[in-house]
Amino acid sequence: MTARIPMKNPIAELDGDEMTRVLWALVKEKLLLPYVDLKTEYYDLSLSNRDATNDAVTAESAQAILRLGVGVKCATITANAARKTEYNLKALYPSPNATIRSILDGTVFRKPIAVSCIRPSVSTWKKPIVIARHAYGDIYKSAEMLIPGPGTVELVYRGADGSEKRTVVAEMKGRGVVLGMHNLDESIKSFARACFLYAIDEKLPIWFSAKDTISKIYDGRFKALFNQVYETEFKDKCAAAGITYFYTLIDDAVARAVKGEGGFLWACKNYDGDVMSDMVASAAGSLAMMTSVLKSPSGAVEYEAAHGTVQQHYYRWQKGEKTSTNPAALIFAWTGALAKRAELDGNPELGSFAKRLEQAVLAAILAGDMTADLALLAVPAPAKALDSREFIDAVAKRI
Ligand code: NAP
Ligand code: MG
Repeated sequence: MTARIPMKNPIAELDGDEMTRVLWALVKEKLLLPYVDLKTEYYDLSLSNRDATNDAVTAESAQAILRLGVGVKCATITANAARKTEYNLKALYPSPNATIRSILDGTVFRKPIAVSCIRPSVSTWKKPIVIARHAYGDIYKSAEMLIPGPGTVELVYRGADGSEKRTVVAEMKGRGVVLGMHNLDESIKSFARACFLYAIDEKLPIWFSAKDTISKIYDGRFKALFNQVYETEFKDKCAAAGITYFYTLIDDAVARAVKGEGGFLWACKNYDGDVMSDMVASAAGSLAMMTSVLKSPSGAVEYEAAHGTVQQHYYRWQKGEKTSTNPAALIFAWTGALAKRAELDGNPELGSFAKRLEQAVLAAILAGDMTADLALLAVPAPAKALDSREFIDAVAKRI
């Protein structure tokens, strides 16, 4: 066996939970460690270790991504009441992704892994749609209140200089609910910049959608700042790259996306991006074929799979059953992180390994070696679906 590829600087490695944790170890053992002298700073974000550290490990891992510039993350459980009982937790910790995103700020880009034998369920789609999801604020960092009965709900701003602004949200006729959310000009502008940089890099036309006809101030601000960043910083660069920028209402964007042939970057506000990325991933094939990268305005990047811990498969695996869980997006999280590390460190050997591993995944699927989620969709259908281990072996032999 030839010598393993050396790495100059480490990657922040964030391990996770359940089935994805099982696959994480298998991917490292069979697809990475035999080829790369892997250097990582390891953080165990399993729910039990988050509990043991009172969740300190999550913030430490985010700081490590900022410091090292590159991170790779396994899927993690977001604790709820059922998980609190299942894992006998001391507390209900916030979503690790939300904690990490609020430290890194930035934008999440979600791109399907396209393979020609997997036909999207939207028959007009010829090229992938990439979703850019703003990762700061809106309902993910909001305050909510149950309103017990009739009365007035107001929004009040108390300026640091002592000034005050207020507006009536509603004259409540009875019991109900209220929600207050916010965003920041700086975060919106860095979202726009991240989108233009990505679109220029990938030569993709860019759409931005919101609902400024209804939300004239809030969504109106997003539209105005996005447009300002385009006009003042990116107009010439977009023209030079041969790409266009286009703003439209979110409902119009949805209609156009489903009727069009794909092949664009769709910049979405936080909630729209949450919903639309699952729509695009499912329509493009499988959740397991969606890659995800968080780009921070600091330049740091975090790669992960877009799916969760595949809980039901894990319970079957625990009983000793074989599972056909698809590790493609997890593998692409690693290749994304290794390729970025290679670029930052000037390590072309590592960069070309990352590319080879991605091609091995695509070649295996194209040759009919695939897990059950894809076997249901593939044309032609394979003779049989592989379990996770068989699929990883099928990839390994093609590296
Ligand atoms: P999930 O883990 O994404 O799985 C939902 C379903 O999608 C699975 O039951 C499976 O369908 C299919 N699926 C997802 N990934 C797959 C893969 N790699 N291969 C094959 N099939 C796959 O979502 P969930 O069950 O709603 O959530 C489970 C846990 O994950 C929760 O505790 C949640 O908090 C966490 N979560 C974490 C992240 C993250 O860390 N980024 C994101 C979302 C959810 P079939 O059962 O039909 O095979
Ligand atoms: Mg979601």
